[in-house]
Amino acid sequence: MTPVCPFVKASRPDDGSSRKPGECTNKHAAEHEGGGEAKKESGGESATVSPKCPLGYDSQTFKLGPLSCMICQALLFDCSKCVPCSHVYCKVCISRFKDCPLCGADIEKIEADTDLQSVVDRFIDGHARIKRSRVDTDKEGEVGENKKVIYEDVSLERGAFLVQQAMRAFRAQNVESAKSRLSLCAEDIRGQIETAGNTSELCSQLGAVLGMLGDCCRAMGDAGSAVTYFEESVEFLSKLPAADLEITHTLSVSLNKIGDLKYYDGDLEAARSYYIRSLNVRRDAIEHHPSVSSQTLDVAVSLAKVADVDRSIGNEDAALDRFREAIKLLETLTLKPEEAGLEQRRLSVLEFLNNQLAEKRSD
Ligand SMILES: [Zn+2]
Ligand SMILES: [Zn+2]
Repeated sequence: MTPVCPFVKASRPDDGSSRKPGECTNKHAAEHEGGGEAKKESGGESATVSPKCPLGYDSQTFKLGPLSCMICQALLFDCSKCVPCSHVYCKVCISRFKDCPLCGADIEKIEADTDLQSVVDRFIDGHARIKRSRVDTDKEGEVGENKKVIYEDVSLERGAFLVQQAMRAFRAQNVESAKSRLSLCAEDIRGQIETAGNTSELCSQLGAVLGMLGDCCRAMGDAGSAVTYFEESVEFLSKLPAADLEITHTLSVSLNKIGDLKYYDGDLEAARSYYIRSLNVRRDAIEHHPSVSSQTLDVAVSLAKVADVDRSIGNEDAALDRFREAIKLLETLTLKPEEAGLEQRRLSVLEFLNNQLAEKRSD
């Protein structure tokens, strides 16, 4: 799953505003803010208060709380209590242990703790739902030195919070938990789209979250649902301008993931058509950003994927052309000093491509 949270990002090039991470990205709310921006820029006159959860469940300041599982370090899912020690974990998490990881006691049996789970569920349901779409002068509190206090919209925080919980659970292989949080998140964004329309911000968030849901289904071995989520992710990301690198990357990755699933399913023609779509998205991205080396690498990888399928279905000439094109791209790619981290990847893709060409010669 992508390590990038679609909610925690700096200003986007397509909306001209200059938000900081954690600030409101709800277009609907922004429309009504009016002079909000000017107030924030009045420097010493105002202080901005970031939303904070008293239990510590914020995307910036995460700490383990009474509603967390010590094993996956995310909020409890399928709460299960160890007998006799009474320590509580997610069912999936604790089922991998014979002794309680907290106290070391033998686990005689595990009992569902539905009461605690309903507390957790209510907490998640209500978390960061408050929306302050408008800053009214008379509602602003005053702190020392007569600074105005502006409370930020926390609707953004909810998305970041759910994605963070999902990523923690996913890393700890509690995929059901991750899927549940992401589903809530997708539901939230769909609700926002209903009121605000298909804004690029919301489409890119939903596209990313749907892609993560696809990753969950794939990890659970449910290829059919994974394809459905990836396709929906593609649908939303395709609505967006091709100039945004982050979006085109997510879009091309989703297309490749569908291609991979079709490939493993033995449907090579379908796999090829998704790989080609991904390749085209990446070629377009290069036209917009010719000097970004990671884009060139992405195109080379896409060429290799298409060539590989071409070879499998007997299109040997087309395959060789693409392998050669990819090799040429990588051989002429000069990395800037700040891109040194890409050199390893460039070399390994190049080695793969050269091996593919050599395979033909030895036939
Ligand atoms: Zn857990
Ligand atoms: Zn215990």
